[in-house]
Amino acid sequence: MFLLSDGCFTLDKSLLVYTKYQGQTYEAALKALLITADTENILVDTGIGELPEKYGKFHVVRRERNQTIKAQLKIHHLTPDDIHIIINTHLHFDHCGNNYLFPKAEFYVQANELRYAYDPDRFQKAAYIRDFFNAKIEYKPIQGKHQVSDNVILIPTPGHSPGHQSVLIKMEERNYVYCGDAAPLQENLKQRNIPGVLYRADQALNSIDMLRTIKNAVYIYSHDNEQLTLV
Ligand SMILES: [Zn+2]
Repeated sequence: MFLLSDGCFTLDKSLLVYTKYQGQTYEAALKALLITADTENILVDTGIGELPEKYGKFHVVRRERNQTIKAQLKIHHLTPDDIHIIINTHLHFDHCGNNYLFPKAEFYVQANELRYAYDPDRFQKAAYIRDFFNAKIEYKPIQGKHQVSDNVILIPTPGHSPGHQSVLIKMEERNYVYCGDAAPLQENLKQRNIPGVLYRADQALNSIDMLRTIKNAVYIYSHDNEQLTLV
């Protein structure tokens, strides 16, 4: 299992933690999680890809050499065609920007996230870019908790978006938890601080509290720029 980087992008840090850090710019890491197995390769989230020009006013994307999803896969001797399953935690633009690279993969997304992405409320509109999730790909709409493979389980964690899901990966004694934007930073989980971008605040806190009950957990925070590799 490996963290892949699609570089980072700037945002107001208050978008990551509710009612804190207004006016502070944060360089948010963009992480995809690669899970390789004998029979299939799974990728969790696909990064931000190339943002439309009008988003440049709010977000600057920065990449070091080799920090694209394609280049990162190559480091592991893989091409996009070698990925069998993509799990999108949700369909905000910074999590599905490279979905189009994987026309052969099967995409696991919660059904209500897929539905909402096409017609979001006014306060979530900017977070969804239709061209990113509407690429020529095949979605497998999921309803609730779902076992993807022997050791990979999808767990609904709504609140940040209506159909947000986190991913539990069981490896020997450890439970790796790809939180997604249910907990973009460590402090969201440690201090029970909900994210700043919200669909429903009460659900967001319930989701954090549920993630905190997982035993022997190693949490992966979607945008924390102090956590760039797995330990
Ligand atoms: Zn998000």
